[in-house]
Amino acid sequence: RDSATGGRSAADVRLDGLRVEYGATAALDGVDLHVEPGEFFTLVGPSGCGKTTTLRSIAGFETPTAGTVDIAGESMRGVPPEDRGVGVVFQNYALFPHMDVAENVAYGLRFSDAPGGVGRDERVADLLDLVDLGGFGDRDPATLSGGQRQRVSLARALAPGPRLLLLDEPMSALDARLRERLRVQVREIQQELGITTVYVTHDQEEALAVSDRVAVMNGGRVEQVGPPRRLYREPNTQFVAEFLGDNNVFDGGVVAADGDRATVRVRGHDLVVDGPGLSVGDRATVCVRPERLRVDDGENRLTATVASTEFLGDATRVHCDWDGAPLTAQTDRDLSGTVTFGFDPADAHVVPVE
Ligand code: ATP
Repeated sequence: RDSATGGRSAADVRLDGLRVEYGATAALDGVDLHVEPGEFFTLVGPSGCGKTTTLRSIAGFETPTAGTVDIAGESMRGVPPEDRGVGVVFQNYALFPHMDVAENVAYGLRFSDAPGGVGRDERVADLLDLVDLGGFGDRDPATLSGGQRQRVSLARALAPGPRLLLLDEPMSALDARLRERLRVQVREIQQELGITTVYVTHDQEEALAVSDRVAVMNGGRVEQVGPPRRLYREPNTQFVAEFLGDNNVFDGGVVAADGDRATVRVRGHDLVVDGPGLSVGDRATVCVRPERLRVDDGENRLTATVASTEFLGDATRVHCDWDGAPLTAQTDRDLSGTVTFGFDPADAHVVPVE
């Protein structure tokens, strides 16, 4: 598939102290990131945290107030979007209704020849094959499903052989099933091409599912960067712990500490946790994943009342009241009434109190 990337090698992206202001508000308040060549890198966070602004700054649609954007080691200061070698797919990047599918893809070549010395028609056919729409070239975009349209948008973005692919919530207008299918396809295409990809989503599950690494953003800043498993298991901050998954988060104070173990008193209950570096008197937030809570098992016990349950197919999520605080567990059992949950010290993760 050398021709699909136009034979270009994957680029890295470096953001240094990126700041974007709109009047008095800072949409980005000092963003530092390094995206490795060939990586699928996702920006995730709540609405308004600055994901789109970060992506637009990389694409060149936004001029930073301060800080730098480098692509493949080159400063992008003053470089217009069409000269950056980036392909962009937006949430609602509508296809042109008066052009058929092939013409829409060929539109991606308006600034450049087809890479790899092939003709335009051959290039368009290759790309339609790549996005699994071979034979759809003469279709009217209006006759395509939402997922197919987004695949045409992707083919159009890839047409000139960009060294970097930027995707801004490309699935958000699709229903849940289609979204899951399309995200797998996008991931497979990205891996096949080896193209560096920066993906924006507000959906934490999507971020964890497809990415090599994820940056969790909050209030115009990056809270934490890491591979999905690490972020999920070892959040550095309470925000990350709460944003990624339905985490149970308990604020308390350390009442005993002994090397790697600590006892944290949470609303009158003593919880023993693995907490190296904690000292008596420290404030600490104990995080326990719902799937770590076991019924009638574990060193720490929490007796709670079931408030509601959600059947998820492969498990049931149980929302409880633990002495007036919410507690969420995930089990394969059907629970009701009063239940005692437990977890071991190693099942908990402690983050500093902000
Ligand atoms: P969403 O998930 O809702 O798209 P986001 O994380 O992508 O959010 P941005 O679109 O980057 O967030 O916006 C970051 C902040 O900058 C927000 O507070 C937003 O209101 C503000 N902002 C973005 N564009 C503009 C603009 N053109 N003028 C004024 N403020 C803006």
